[in-house]
Amino acid sequence: MGSVEKTRFRVIIMGAGSTGSSIAYHLAKKGETDVLLLDRSCAGCGQTGVTSALIRLHYTNPVIRSMAVYSWRFIRERFSEEVECELPVFTETGIGFGVSEEGVKEAERVVSSLRTMGVEVEIYDPEDFRREVFRHMNVEGLAAVAWEPHSGYGNPSSIVGCYVRYARRMGVKVMENNPITRLVVKDGRVVAVETKRGVFRGEAVVNALGVWANRLLKPAGAELPIKIGREEVLVVRNLERREVVPPGWGDLALGFYSRPEGRDLTIIGGLYVDYPEVEPEPGRYSKPPLRLVETRMKPFVKRFPHMADAELHSGWYGFYDITPDWQPIIGHDPRLENLIHMVGLSGHGFKLSPAYGDTISDIILYGKSRRFDTSKFSLERFERKESERSRYKYGIIG
Ligand SMILES: Cc1cc2nc3c(=O)[nH]c(=O)nc-3n(C[C@H](O)[C@H](O)[C@H](O)COP(=O)(O)OP(=O)(O)OC[C@H]3O[C@@H](n4cnc5c(N)ncnc54)[C@H](O)[C@@H]3O)c2cc1C
Repeated sequence: MGSVEKTRFRVIIMGAGSTGSSIAYHLAKKGETDVLLLDRSCAGCGQTGVTSALIRLHYTNPVIRSMAVYSWRFIRERFSEEVECELPVFTETGIGFGVSEEGVKEAERVVSSLRTMGVEVEIYDPEDFRREVFRHMNVEGLAAVAWEPHSGYGNPSSIVGCYVRYARRMGVKVMENNPITRLVVKDGRVVAVETKRGVFRGEAVVNALGVWANRLLKPAGAELPIKIGREEVLVVRNLERREVVPPGWGDLALGFYSRPEGRDLTIIGGLYVDYPEVEPEPGRYSKPPLRLVETRMKPFVKRFPHMADAELHSGWYGFYDITPDWQPIIGHDPRLENLIHMVGLSGHGFKLSPAYGDTISDIILYGKSRRFDTSKFSLERFERKESERSRYKYGIIG
């Protein structure tokens, strides 16, 4: 007789991006391997595959800030040992946050809180920053720079690949190329998930579906307050001289961010207060449209004038799952008791995957996170009209 495919699991994780794969890894690490990780395409091929991947610490929300520090330390210092994987996952570039007068008090507050957590960070007068850290810039319009010398960017495919390989090795079942087509709901629970390759039952069902979550949740009567926004990224080729390549940079005065990619390239993205609602169908530009070139190059070149000579390289776009306060939805859904959300990551979820994985695995195993107080990130906060929004005008800064 042939082997019978297992169809019942303690935990089913829907979506294998940085979030779902980290949850699978953390469950396995904590000894829970009766887990099915499902993805309609390949692990890391959703928004995680198009992320700008900045790993920074500058968050005004205290819980998310402590998650950022935990996650940065995990990826930068402990990843290979914890996940037992030797792939390179982190590149240090330093990241500066330039703020105008209105942001100075908040930047100082964030920097001093990070220092109490043992992180090396500085707040600079812009002219001092130019003199001491990065000479090739115009500091007009800036009132302070918060500088994180040890922040940088992560390698999404290595991070996801390592999480998945560890989980699989420990006994987690990973099924890629298997779309979930329906959630089967009965008596206030998700009793099963229907997929192209069969029906699976889970005691707990985790939603790590990112921008696609509502496609399955709406028909199940559990729609989430998530709007989809589009983010476009322009890539330019760096100039030959290494010393003129700008470090990682978040510009709250001009509304853009950028970071080097390897030796040769720089990625430039946008910061906006609001995003028009769209449908998420990711893709790549064969050639970035002129409109994108103009909107990204204008503020970037204003801040780093010598980069006007940089040659265009490429561009792509992806999508944010944005909640009303730009912070994640974490924990049980009051409408479907065994459904657990880790979604609504609002454009800043990649760097936080270690904290999100640790949190959701704890919620499943112990009822709540043992490390972070996530009570303020429940779905119910929106009904109560509570908000965990950033103290900066850009919600994505967190
Ligand atoms: C352009 C861009 C730049 C960004 N820059 C940064 C940054 O610098 N730093 C940062 O921290 N964050 C950044 N983000 C945000 C970050 O990338 C995301 O928050 C994070 O990657 C989301 O991971 P996820 O696992 O939740 O979602 P995803 O990676 O999208 O994973 C969801 C998975 O669900 C699967 N799925 C969907 N529907 C189904 C179905 N029906 N059945 C089975 N599987 C399904 C998909 O295939 C996908 O793999 C950026 C995002 C974008 C778009």
